[in-house]
Amino acid sequence: MIKKEIQLKVPATVANLVCGFDILGMAIHEPYDEMELRLLSDPIIKIKHLDDFGLPEKAEKNVVGVVLRKIMEHTQMKQGFEVIIKKNIKPGSGLGSSAASAAGAAFGANVLLGKPFSYPQLVYFAIYGEELASGTRHADNIAPCIYGGITLVKSSRPLDIIPLTSPDLLVTAVHPQVEIKTSDARQILKNKIPLKDAVTQWGNIAGLITGILKNDVDLIGRSLNDVVIEPTRSILIPKFSEIKEKSILEGALGGGISGSGPSIFMLSKKKETAEKIAKIMCEEYRKIGVRQYVYVSKINQQGITIL
Ligand code: ADP
Repeated sequence: MIKKEIQLKVPATVANLVCGFDILGMAIHEPYDEMELRLLSDPIIKIKHLDDFGLPEKAEKNVVGVVLRKIMEHTQMKQGFEVIIKKNIKPGSGLGSSAASAAGAAFGANVLLGKPFSYPQLVYFAIYGEELASGTRHADNIAPCIYGGITLVKSSRPLDIIPLTSPDLLVTAVHPQVEIKTSDARQILKNKIPLKDAVTQWGNIAGLITGILKNDVDLIGRSLNDVVIEPTRSILIPKFSEIKEKSILEGALGGGISGSGPSIFMLSKKKETAEKIAKIMCEEYRKIGVRQYVYVSKINQQGITIL
């Protein structure tokens, strides 16, 4: 039976995973958005936010509207959608806020339409939302949100997504309440990298993916190094190096900037370590009077779920 309405839990995602700039992403359990979608008899899109982030509710300005419009055009449907969003993933956090809305819209519409689309097709529709949010059609947050777990975006054009089976590691993520514009985080990056650094980065990314696929957590830890993006981008994030150093001393496998920041994430084998790291993160930001949200959860292997 085709459902007329649906409620979704849509997870935050960590893009890049240190050395996998623009190609790797991972879903986590906390924070998550709640979305409710229902079919309307007219071909219109209604969006309502139950949060107070001040996001636009006009369909053409909200990533949800842009994604649903693409699906409506593609299917030439005579009906429309109403969407109610309770967002907990703060926009601009580096935790895939716009991706969650875009992925949730594509996933929810697919269920309401009787599942005509495959996961790669849902990613294809959802990246139009990312284009609205950041000007580029990237899938590194969208893919793990839809597939769950860790995903590799082998290529964006043509879209080639490889879901990777990963060990059940713990993720500690902190979102310090400082603002970094995605455009600033992009502009600061160098356009050229020395060959020596490129070779180091290739080694790390190959090691990281091998470690993920072989369940080799020590190899994952040895490979979580970024010599290309982190050295410049981390300058924008207060307390980045202190948090990284102290987390690794406490037993973290490694970690770095989540997406374009300011959130930072760390991976650990044990829950106790992940929780100690959460404390370290809070303490570091308290010292400088920066408010912060900290989340501890396992890698989210399911991605979006129907409530
Ligand atoms: P993050 O850093 O968490 O990934 P983003 O960079 O994805 O955050 O996106 C936030 C931008 O997208 C903001 O400029 C916001 O106004 C815009 N936007 C439009 N619609 C939405 C939506 N439904 N959810 C989140 N952000 C949205």
